[in-house]
Amino acid sequence: FATLIYAGWSIYETRHPRENQSPPDPTKKTLVILGSGWGSVSLLKTINTSNYNVVVVSPRNFFLFTPLLPSCTTGTIEHRSIMEPIRGIIRNKESDVTYYEAEATKIDYENRVVTIRDHSTEDSKDERQLKFDYLVVGVGAMNSTFGIPGVQDHACFLKEIPDAQKIRKKIMDCIESASFKNLDDADRKRLLHTVVVGGGPTGVEFAAELQDFFEEDLKKWIPGIAKDFKVTLVEALPNVLPSFSKQLIDYTERQFKAEKISVLTKTMVKKVTEDTIIAEATRPDGSKETLEMPYGLLVWATGNTVRPVIRDLMANLEAQKNSRRGLLVNEYLVVEGTEGVWALGDCTATKYAPTAQVAAQQGSYLGGLFNQLARAEDLEQEVRALEAKASQTAEGSAERKSILSEIESRSRRLRRSKSLLPFEYSHQGSLAYVGSDKAVADLTLWAEGNFASGGRLTYMFWRSAYLSMCFSMRNKILVLTDWVKVKVFGRDVSR
Ligand code: NAD
Repeated sequence: FATLIYAGWSIYETRHPRENQSPPDPTKKTLVILGSGWGSVSLLKTINTSNYNVVVVSPRNFFLFTPLLPSCTTGTIEHRSIMEPIRGIIRNKESDVTYYEAEATKIDYENRVVTIRDHSTEDSKDERQLKFDYLVVGVGAMNSTFGIPGVQDHACFLKEIPDAQKIRKKIMDCIESASFKNLDDADRKRLLHTVVVGGGPTGVEFAAELQDFFEEDLKKWIPGIAKDFKVTLVEALPNVLPSFSKQLIDYTERQFKAEKISVLTKTMVKKVTEDTIIAEATRPDGSKETLEMPYGLLVWATGNTVRPVIRDLMANLEAQKNSRRGLLVNEYLVVEGTEGVWALGDCTATKYAPTAQVAAQQGSYLGGLFNQLARAEDLEQEVRALEAKASQTAEGSAERKSILSEIESRSRRLRRSKSLLPFEYSHQGSLAYVGSDKAVADLTLWAEGNFASGGRLTYMFWRSAYLSMCFSMRNKILVLTDWVKVKVFGRDVSR
């Protein structure tokens, strides 16, 4: 009943826009937020926007719930179910927030200006400059190819919605082409072979989703492909999911064996051509072997690298010159070598893994910090006004005593507002889907204790955790509907 009321209220809010939006206030500081991912959106949710002129810049005009992106590649989840428009997010804030669908191409720290390029049309080259008092950089990272020849041209990545759409189309393209009667055996096998490079959570979850798609739908709709369909996961390290506990790594590898996903560990991809992957495998005796794998679909999931706009900023800041992985920030997330510039999420190089969880916590920390800074500034002004008033009242008068005591109390509150606490990450755990309605979970349940579990119950937990983390009630309902739809009707095998 409570859920229904909540759902009703959320729908009412969505359908009724806020009125009386105020124009930007010239007396307020301008805060520019770059990005619309986990960090930036979590900051937007927490910050009281009436204290600043807030400007959001991102080429992606929606927040993407990335943990369910692998499910979009096979149609288990429809992509719109995990997108939340930025316009909807900012509409419900305390005061007007400006949004530009644009890409930040240069951050000029000296002049406190960001150059942004219009992204509303494909061929648009319009640029403009935004002045900022405060800047938050949350632009994320891009796919790393390690400069391996052929990857950029022939592989599919899995980071954004268009990537998932491209993969979904390519899966069906390969399968339909492989069903051509006069194709020779080697070519059919190649088209039905999907290679996933990178055994981190992205690679593992995609391989699992694809194998599910094959077992639950494709095999029934197109039985002719059943004997040759194959998924191979290639990982350079000795095991998949290196950030998970040993027992969950073993569980995942056993699970993949049972699902007939072939796992090649200690195998490093060296080159990619239009239809073949060349990899170097290390045998148990330490010797090397070159493998050639013909493929129809190649999904590249080997992690992240720094975006050009961040690389450029780092090159122009002396304090950042030695960093390779991203922006160095202090314990308050201030970019080293700057004042009034903060960074969060995957574009930073910290001791934490580049995960959604870290970025989200950094975002809400920064939101709180900006609220605190605004409170401190207000109190400072109040104290100054009271001091001026006190100087005009007679020495020893009752009015003066009352003003002085008010100054004392506000100064105490001001000191508290100025004492900022550093960012502290609280790791809640890691989850990954491993196929056949099973998931693994490495949870932090108490101060120094971990709880590792894998299986169907963990999958129920995985689903409920992700459902509860979806951005809006609309997203939750859509995701739930997608899961029910797939259970009842199966996945859509059209292109
Ligand atoms: P990752 O960095 O976690 O894993 C990439 C893997 O690719 C590594 O294990 C690496 O050894 C391997 N690799 C690199 N080059 C290779 C090559 N040439 N040949 C073969 N293997 C190669 O990448 P990811 O899975 O995209 O994850 C990125 C970040 O996002 C990580 O911090 C991850 O924890 C996080 N993430 C978490 C989840 C989750 O918890 N469910 C899901 C997705 C991403």
